[in-house]
Amino acid sequence: MTASPSTATAKDLRGAGLRVTAARVALLETVRAGDHLGVEAIAAGVRDRVGHVSLQAVYEALHALTAAGLVRRIQPPGSPARFEGRVGDNHHHVVCRSCGALADVDCAVGEAPCLTASDDHGFAIDEAEVIYRGLCPACSSTSTSPTSTSPAP
Ligand SMILES: [Zn+2]
Ligand SMILES: [Zn+2]
Repeated sequence: MTASPSTATAKDLRGAGLRVTAARVALLETVRAGDHLGVEAIAAGVRDRVGHVSLQAVYEALHALTAAGLVRRIQPPGSPARFEGRVGDNHHHVVCRSCGALADVDCAVGEAPCLTASDDHGFAIDEAEVIYRGLCPACSSTSTSPTSTSPAP
């Protein structure tokens, strides 16, 4: 071990031009350790690491880290934003329409922007974000059961 996780994380923050604070280090570690966490779960993780931090401070830090490219924000239509530390690889997401379960889907083509727009409107497109939607295995087995139209016992 040459560097503790906190040291490496602080270096990433500094490298992105951000001021290093204990809360930001804790936040980035929480997001990286988690799996597409929502804001509440991230706030809980930050509090576990550094004690009380306001939800407002968590939102502000998430905004700064997202803008700096250290954290990626995923906004599935109709559900709360999620955040992840896997950035820069142009991967996509599949979201369950019923329970909101979310998983990574690797880039279909292997390089950005992955999808070629039928009309680029003159933009130099370098990224395509795709959200696949459907039912996760747990929800699709529930919905195909013959009792799905009646209320659960
Ligand atoms: Zn589901
Ligand atoms: Zn992801």
